[in-house]
Amino acid sequence: MKNLRTLTFFVAWALLAVAARGQTRPPKLIDAHHHFYDGDPAYLDKVLVKLERVDGLAFILTPPKDLETVRAAMSKHPDRLLGFGDIKLDDPDVLEEIDRFHEAGFRGIGEMTSPLKNYDDRTYWPIYERAEKYGMIALFHTGIVNREHPEAPSDISVDRMRPTTLDGIARRFPKLTVIGAHLGNPDYAWAAEITRWNPNLYFDLSGSSLIKKQDDLTFWKSIFWWSGVVSPHTPPSGTSAFERLVFGSDVFNGELDEFDRELERYHKMLDACAVPPAAQANIFSGTLWRILNEKR
Ligand SMILES: [Zn+2]
Repeated sequence: MKNLRTLTFFVAWALLAVAARGQTRPPKLIDAHHHFYDGDPAYLDKVLVKLERVDGLAFILTPPKDLETVRAAMSKHPDRLLGFGDIKLDDPDVLEEIDRFHEAGFRGIGEMTSPLKNYDDRTYWPIYERAEKYGMIALFHTGIVNREHPEAPSDISVDRMRPTTLDGIARRFPKLTVIGAHLGNPDYAWAAEITRWNPNLYFDLSGSSLIKKQDDLTFWKSIFWWSGVVSPHTPPSGTSAFERLVFGSDVFNGELDEFDRELERYHKMLDACAVPPAAQANIFSGTLWRILNEKR
């Protein structure tokens, strides 16, 4: 009887150990910028097919009305889908929405976009403070933005979404991990330079920039220029300057083919700029995997 109990204990322990390892295994790819489409659970099944193929995990940017749908999918596929609360900075209920997303296991907020004030306006600080307290990552749109209804008046301006507005947020909330989308297109130099001094700030390079520069890929070396530089004017670092980037597909409106295209563009650019394989592994997954585990 005692032997049976001991055996049962060891079998249970072994199963638990395997389960725990399964959940902490790093994926090969983390897509930090994937918009949920149309509130449709079947869409997530299609995303899962893509993610299985590349051993990927995607941050699914989820409007508040779709919280339950994404929560259900996340709990079935915790190693593939991870929810972000797609909140609006000017929504009067924004803090309660962040609470709800956090309680439902969502690990970030965003993509925040089209604010009525600059991102670093002090009236938004309680939002960033809440996200920091919960260990949530904050994803901001930066740079130019589309104009879906040119015929209708709108209170949107790219000037409020300059990448430099993230500098003050990163400094004021040092435990908040901030990701700027689109590397501030076209303010690349500003975006990259502020990551150099802010260890909690990263950018993705989704959007039209890699298409615009497809015949001039080594251009990005002039933006991420400080690899290996030792100087009192730059923080000491043994890593590639390109490691201030993370991967984001910015798939929206269900355009899933964009996932493959964006992945190919990233690979081409990083190879053209001779970014070492270890640095590329961090860009595609390692950096965000480390951050997710630190905040757990
Ligand atoms: Zn965006």
